[in-house]
Amino acid sequence: MSRPLCPRCCRPLSHCLCALIPSLDSRTRVLILQHPSEVKHALNTARLAALGLTNAELCVGEMFCELERLLNPPGYRSCLLFPGEGATVLAAAPNELPLQLVVPDGTWRKASKLLHVNPLLAALPQVMLPAGGVSRYRLRKAPMAGALSTIEAIVQALEVVEAPSAFGELLRPFEALIEGQIEAMGEEVFARNHLPNL
Ligand SMILES: [Zn+2]
Repeated sequence: MSRPLCPRCCRPLSHCLCALIPSLDSRTRVLILQHPSEVKHALNTARLAALGLTNAELCVGEMFCELERLLNPPGYRSCLLFPGEGATVLAAAPNELPLQLVVPDGTWRKASKLLHVNPLLAALPQVMLPAGGVSRYRLRKAPMAGALSTIEAIVQALEVVEAPSAFGELLRPFEALIEGQIEAMGEEVFARNHLPNL
């Protein structure tokens, strides 16, 4: 028998995170593209990010037929958060047209595939985060040092683009989720599987 889920955050009702999800305004619009295989992941941070930002949208798919419309909302210029060749480092640009930050969810490998099957995505200008972001995402083995979860990448990007505004509140449900996961699996197992060997 499956446990009843909260229809909003999709967590078991006994572990609903909704009370921790903020409702933050941003000048920047955030469009998150999520592969269907990520939807059921226990740490669906893309969903938490989309719920916590008033100016955000989460789309699930592999080939996005609505992409032309999604990438051209009136009043915004779209950029893809992806560290490809020719990507420029994100910076504050308060006098330009507001940014729509298009964020592929999941690993860079998955994001590359998404670009491959969606040429409109691949054609977007690419931006990347300034180096030095440290992830609090300790559960899932990161593909490379310093790799961030989707929600962390969004927070860092917004804090760069909209400096000095802070978006750390968005991470509250994510932090609770991680603490809960660590407790559930037991500290010992966690240390064995998820901490680097020192
Ligand atoms: Zn909930």
